[in-house]
Formats: sequence, C-alpha cells, structure tokens
Amino acid sequence: MCGIIGYAGARQAAPIILEGLAALEYRGYYSAGIAVLDSDGMPAVHKKSGKLVNLATVLQDSLPEGVTGVGHTRWATHGGPTDFNAHPHTDCDNQIIVVHNGIVENYVQIKESLIAEGHAFTSQTDAECIPHLIESYIDQEYPFEEAVRAAAGEIRGANAVVAISTREPGKLVAFRLGNAGGLVVGYGKDELLLASDLPALLPHTQDVAYLAGGEMVI
Ligand code: GLU
Repeated sequence: MCGIIGYAGARQAAPIILEGLAALEYRGYYSAGIAVLDSDGMPAVHKKSGKLVNLATVLQDSLPEGVTGVGHTRWATHGGPTDFNAHPHTDCDNQIIVVHNGIVENYVQIKESLIAEGHAFTSQTDAECIPHLIESYIDQEYPFEEAVRAAAGEIRGANAVVAISTREPGKLVAFRLGNAGGLVVGYGKDELLLASDLPALLPHTQDVAYLAGGEMVI
C-alpha cells in the first residue's frame, strides 16, 4: 500500500508533505516523491527510490516553496522501484501532476491509445496513464476538475488519485474508485489536506471525512 498526501492552503506545503509521508511510512514503500507549485504555478517535482530519507536529503538545502503540493510513497506494482517510476507523474506539458494508489487494470489499452494520439510516456507504470488521460480531456477544453472526473470514468480497478494543475494552483482534485487503501479529507482553517490515512492529518486537523468508493473531492 502506498501513501498519498496532498495540501492546499496558506502554509508552506513541502514540510507538511514530508511530515505526512513520514507518518505513512508504516504502510511500506519503494520510493518517495513530492511536487509543489510555486506562486506562479511552476512545479518543482522531486522523486527518489529507496527510503524517504533519500528524498529528504536531496531537499534539505532547498525545500521547494509553495502552498499547494502532493507527496507519495510508492508500493511498486507496475514498473520497477526506480526514480523514473516513482510518483508524482505528469502529463506531456508538466501541467497535470498526479499521485496514485492502486492498479489501473486497463492501463495497457489507455496507454496505447494515448501514445497513438501523440502522448510521450517516461515511466513503466500504470499510474502515468492518469495525468496523460486528464491532459487528453484538457486538450478537449474540459475544465480541470471535469477532466479528472472524465478520466476517473475511464479507468478500471481499485484506485485513489490526487491531481493538481499548474494552471490552477490552490486546488486539489481527488477521487476514489473501489478500495485501494483509502483517502481521507482533512478540513483545516483556510486549508485542505488529503491523505491515505489519519496519522498524516491529525497534527493539522481532527475535522475529517473518508471518501467512499466513487466519490470525488475538489
Ligand atoms: N500501481 C501504481 C504503481 O506501481 C501505484 C502503486 C501504489 O499504490 O503505490 O506505480
């Protein structure tokens, strides 16, 4: 089981995300990654195979600045435990950034049709088809959250997904399909957090809601 954390609010996201990932380490993982949007929406994405300390070491002198971000500890199911296969994954333009827990059962079919449309993949994961699928709807002029909703309607299997967009910093869009380890929403003061499990949220808020299968949160 992987660990997902997302933050959108007024505080610096990176320290909250790294602490959240540490609180989710008990779930087991092969790599860790983080993406933070700066005040212009420019993304900083860092990922490292191995323990969370490897990622924290890379970031220790230059934590990415910004108040929106996502983090992930990956339990590799499709593709080896490498830096490239670590989450977050992005679309062709590095505009849509996704962390994912679960298995996209129909990813081969989705990936093949996206490659035929011209999308370029950089990992061996099933997860990477999600940001490209969202991108394909954005290209058809869907608003961000509607593009995520449409992508959720296409993928099969048990999945939990959190997406952010460089065009809409300050917004997290997440959904849960079936049971892929859960997704909990934490409502803070002027901030929203998402995590795979409660320990990552409790230092920040006790006002929480569990997403049910088929539910989405914006
Ligand atoms: N199936 C995805 C992958 O292998 C997500 C695994 C997870 O839940 O961490 O990248």
